[in-house]
Amino acid sequence: MEFKLIAEYFDRLEKISSRLQLTSLLSDLFHKTDPSLMDKVVYLIQGRLWPDFTGMPELGLGEKFLIKAISMASGVKEEEVEKTYKSVGDLGEVAMRLKSSSKTSSILTFLGGSQTFGSLDVLEVYNELVKIAESSGEGSRDIKIRIFAGLLKKASPLEAKYLVRFVEGRLRLGIGDATVLDALALTFGGSSDYRPIVERAYNLRADLGEIARVIAKEGIEKLKSVIPTPGIPIRPMLAERLSDPAEILDKVGGKALVDYKYDGERAQIHRNKDKVFIFSRRMENITDQYVDVVEYVTRYLKGDDFIVEGEIVPVDPESGEMRPFQELMHRRRKNDIHEAIREYPVNLYLFDLIYYGGKDYTVEPLPARRQKLEEIIAENDKVKIAEHMLTDSVDKLTEYFHQAISEGAEGVMVKSVGPNSVYQAGSRGWLWIKLKKDYQSEMADTVDLVIVGAFYGKGKRGGKFSSLLMAAYNPDKDVFETVCKVASGFSDQELDEMQSKISELKRSERHPRVVSEMVPDVWVTPALVAEIIGAEITISPLHTCCRETGKGGLSIRFPRFIRWRPDKSPEDATTTKEIMEMYSKQYKKVEEKQIDENI
Ligand code: ATP
Repeated sequence: MEFKLIAEYFDRLEKISSRLQLTSLLSDLFHKTDPSLMDKVVYLIQGRLWPDFTGMPELGLGEKFLIKAISMASGVKEEEVEKTYKSVGDLGEVAMRLKSSSKTSSILTFLGGSQTFGSLDVLEVYNELVKIAESSGEGSRDIKIRIFAGLLKKASPLEAKYLVRFVEGRLRLGIGDATVLDALALTFGGSSDYRPIVERAYNLRADLGEIARVIAKEGIEKLKSVIPTPGIPIRPMLAERLSDPAEILDKVGGKALVDYKYDGERAQIHRNKDKVFIFSRRMENITDQYVDVVEYVTRYLKGDDFIVEGEIVPVDPESGEMRPFQELMHRRRKNDIHEAIREYPVNLYLFDLIYYGGKDYTVEPLPARRQKLEEIIAENDKVKIAEHMLTDSVDKLTEYFHQAISEGAEGVMVKSVGPNSVYQAGSRGWLWIKLKKDYQSEMADTVDLVIVGAFYGKGKRGGKFSSLLMAAYNPDKDVFETVCKVASGFSDQELDEMQSKISELKRSERHPRVVSEMVPDVWVTPALVAEIIGAEITISPLHTCCRETGKGGLSIRFPRFIRWRPDKSPEDATTTKEIMEMYSKQYKKVEEKQIDENI
């Protein structure tokens, strides 16, 4: 398969933003893709060489390297490349221009020949990029440049443009996972009716490339038999939120398993023979950060072929009592992992079992999953099943909620124990409902929003980024809609961190998946999530969140930054629908208060 085809499709995809058109064009490309290359083509579309969870190295070629490689490949002096870059502002474009006007091609044209370039093959490109990513240590810098220049030399101008953008991490295709899933259903099923089958498989084995390869090679039917596999993360099951204990119990059918809701880091723990993998809530491989947890799992959980889920919670080294979530951040900042483990020890509280000994437990009701979990665990001080009770009483639930908070938990998770209480990978549903302590504030809960733009400050903060344009995720459209501009709540250290984070992600034009009326000083690629609290949710003409409801957008009044949420990916941010629900509930609350006051 020629790489030319990919470059041509990238060029076309970049120019459209309608999700339907993107899906159909992508499906076109999938039709033309050799099934054995499907996984690689999907990774390339996602702008990566392999899924993040593999923990494999990234390409690691910065601007300077690229300028050198472009110069080597085009025969144009580095200073000249730099100059063109300054005026054009996009290295991909620079590579394309210089390739079209490079000496060899102009001589060939002059001699009456057509411009010929060596033809690049997708597999060859992929393998060379892998070599670049994998070369490390002394001399690797030169090796990386040489390999990349070799690729550029053979590339046509258009191919060069996309090779450079890929390596720079700046493909602007505007294609999220959801759109790839749509296109796979369309290509291999024939219609969007097949989307649930593809999505189910992806939820259980969150490797889009691998799912694409299975479907292309073995057909859509094969996807139906996909079950979780130790080593490949599962998209986590999420909880809905409510603030009234009676309503919660009612929603889950009158009787529930009530767990403490721990405030730590969610951990999906996989064991495959001798290997243990720990994946975060956003499915990143965090095994290396928790070598102590790896040891506990090997020692205290029976078997060598399972997937369990729990919360890693910082505890006081002296008393063993739970500590605030932020201590995990301190632990992460330490260079010496052994010192970190000593200073910031953790406990593991398990709350689910997803797979055991070849059997898919996601289809089993919660009581069966928990029973299995109890069978395989040797509980001790460090590893335990989440504190829990079974109840059908609103009073008991309320009492337990207060108890949980008094012991340092965030609240409770109320879980259905009915026959349909399966593990719903990748979805937020009413089988789990969270009751958290911060519902007492005016705005019922904090929200997690994605940074899509930044503004420079004035006065003391002059010249530095000091406020952020924040957006919620709209999964129906697979876009980010703005909600507020947040300028307060940052500590000095967080402000400093913000400068470098934004600089890495800034861009000159709006990201194609961002919907915004406001124009910030710099646009930012949606990647960072921050937790925000505010006074209330209000209607605002300035923002685009939930605008289609006709009232104007929804916004947060007096927003305040609470913390970064590195454990969340942009698609895990609060959804526009959730903001709408929070708005409606708040409205109801105000109305009830007014009625009370009038009586
Ligand atoms: P939040 O921002 O409130 O943490 P979230 O959006 O990260 O929520 P939710 O599904 O809304 O995710 O809340 C569930 C989170 O609570 C899980 O991701 C998990 O990390 C944590 N948690 C703590 N204790 C439990 C428990 N006993 N059962 C399930 N999840 C738990």
